Amino acid sequence: MADLQSIVDGIYSDLTPRLGEGKVADYIPELAKVDPKQFGMAIATVDGQLFTVGDAATPFSIQSISKVFMLTLALGKVGEAVWNRVGREPSGSAFNSIVQLEHEHGIPRNPFINAGAIAVTDIVLAGYQPKEAIGEYLRFMRMLADDDAITIDGKVARSENETGYRNFALANFMRGFGNLHHPAEHVLGVYFHQCALSITCTQLARAGLFLAAEGKNPLTGHSVVSAKRARRINALMLTCGHYDGSGDFAFRVGLPGKSGVGGGILAVAPGKASIAVWSPGLNKVGNSLLGSVALEMLAARTGWSVFAGHGSESRA
Ligand code: GLU
Repeated sequence: MADLQSIVDGIYSDLTPRLGEGKVADYIPELAKVDPKQFGMAIATVDGQLFTVGDAATPFSIQSISKVFMLTLALGKVGEAVWNRVGREPSGSAFNSIVQLEHEHGIPRNPFINAGAIAVTDIVLAGYQPKEAIGEYLRFMRMLADDDAITIDGKVARSENETGYRNFALANFMRGFGNLHHPAEHVLGVYFHQCALSITCTQLARAGLFLAAEGKNPLTGHSVVSAKRARRINALMLTCGHYDGSGDFAFRVGLPGKSGVGGGILAVAPGKASIAVWSPGLNKVGNSLLGSVALEMLAARTGWSVFAGHGSESRA
């Protein structure tokens, strides 16, 4: 395999003519202000190396990628009981769809669509005031990324709170089914803040490294989750991490991944690396357009698809 720095440099130069493609999320007014012509990528390997390119040091809004980390916290808090409140099947619908919820009696399909993530946030909130739950999440992210500079952008959180009509509808609907234990305003107060975390590609790649290393931070040996739990979180990312584009992402990239409407994607190459890519323009199903293309190129150029044979370096 060519060295990783020349691979990421090659991806960046191949994509430079396309910068600005896609449509920046505008249903959250603060996100609509982001310059679409940005692209960054960072790869943190399990042996402690870091490869970056482009705007890898520019903070962006983590949005739905936060759902992976909140799920990790919820599993740590109540274990398998999470699955009494939320399913593990791909939804085949948009991230903010309400249709399935009625058919399925208020139990969201999976923890990565908005309804499921709101139920997960409700679990993390148990026993806390909203501010304390936000604090726990922020500390967790700083610990994983080993960077206390990570902050939450209050403007983005407020912007979502003012316009999050669908999320309020989802939360209240679940409360009607008994699958939300706290007032919708409290749960969404936490949810909007978790989504409003500002993070760079470098920080995000480091934060996701435990998922590539059987649940441990490979650099410190510190255990975040068990190996079995890390495998299961990866399985959910592979099957449900890109909303209604999850099948296509698995087909084209072949790595567990989670996208957010801020234009970020966290992808995991188990046993090898954690990869963060960011470009704000989104495709039709709400995933970063160039970010998805970049990961497709990376998987082809490294042979990292989870569907490749052991030790395979097969390209394209
Ligand atoms: N905060 C966003 C929302 O709830 C997250 C959506 C996403 O990133 O996919 O609408």
